[in-house]
Amino acid sequence: REASQIPQRVLFYKSFMSNGSADRILIEQELHKALANEEFYLDFQPQVNLKTGKIESVEALVRWRHPTRGFVSPELFIPIAEESGLIIPLGKWILETACSQANTWKEQGLPPMKVAVNLSIGQLFQQDLVYMVQEILQRTKLEPQYLQLEITESMTMNIDHITQLLHELKAIGIQIAVDDFGTGYSSLSYLKDFPIDCLKIDRAFVRNIQHNTNDEALVSMILSMAKHLRLKVVAEGIEEVEQLAFLINGDCDYIQGYLFSKPVSAEQIFNNFNELHNRAKDILTEFKYEE
Ligand code: C2E
Ligand code: MG
Ligand code: MG
Ligand code: MG
Repeated sequence: REASQIPQRVLFYKSFMSNGSADRILIEQELHKALANEEFYLDFQPQVNLKTGKIESVEALVRWRHPTRGFVSPELFIPIAEESGLIIPLGKWILETACSQANTWKEQGLPPMKVAVNLSIGQLFQQDLVYMVQEILQRTKLEPQYLQLEITESMTMNIDHITQLLHELKAIGIQIAVDDFGTGYSSLSYLKDFPIDCLKIDRAFVRNIQHNTNDEALVSMILSMAKHLRLKVVAEGIEEVEQLAFLINGDCDYIQGYLFSKPVSAEQIFNNFNELHNRAKDILTEFKYEE
């Protein structure tokens, strides 16, 4: 399977992370059944454009409703899916479901929205990834500019392979974002090789921004660097108005966080679209009055 092509460092990291406990092995077995049993679904979290106040994109987040365990966090099962290789069929299902949902919203009359989909490292070493993305876009009738793929900095270790792959994906017309930016222990040199559109500032930097001048300095630095590199910035995990204020002052482009909305179902995005919009507008207007 694809694992033979994944750099050794990743495999070591993964096996170090997940101990071989009985529970973990059980979860791995159950994961295999979960896809066939349709236990997975997607939630979507709105991203608010701070310049327009509009929801122009959503991030798709996979959910596992286990028949007896209940909700299992992706933080727990994604690493297991990666290690077991299940991430390949699961990742395909996620991409297809997200693209088809984006097109459904459009057909239901919502303004066009970009959908962001997280990629796992195993998928970047999947032989037919580019073909698969192309094929899914055709089949779901989603225009490529409405798909954004999120990669993480841990994927920057095999620079030549990833650079070539990202160029092929860009050639299709889709967008590329770097997720969890600043947490990956990687050098910044990939920023000049990779054809990326967007950086997502990790929640870890934003969480204490009101109380920690180091976090303030780091977020300001990321915002100004992104501007010079002509990259858009999404700040993740915004829960408080004070965090929002800091990011607006720093000229951040997009915000994603509980302050605006938690991840919600596709139906909720559709049914509550105007409410979500008005909520975003209210929060942004309130902020401007406070200025
Ligand atoms: P991520 O891609 O960085 O996703 C953002 C995570 O932050 C989501 O957690 C989201 O619910 C959470 N979040 C957003 N706003 C806030 C906030 O204001 N406060 C707090 N406390 N949290 C917030 P989630 O859905 O549990 O996903 C966790 C991670 O699991 C994701 O981090 C991603 O690395 C992985 N993941 C989730 N869905 C997928 C998927 O479809 N494919 C892959 N490969 N990985 C996924
Ligand atoms: Mg993400
Ligand atoms: Mg993130
Ligand atoms: Mg994360």
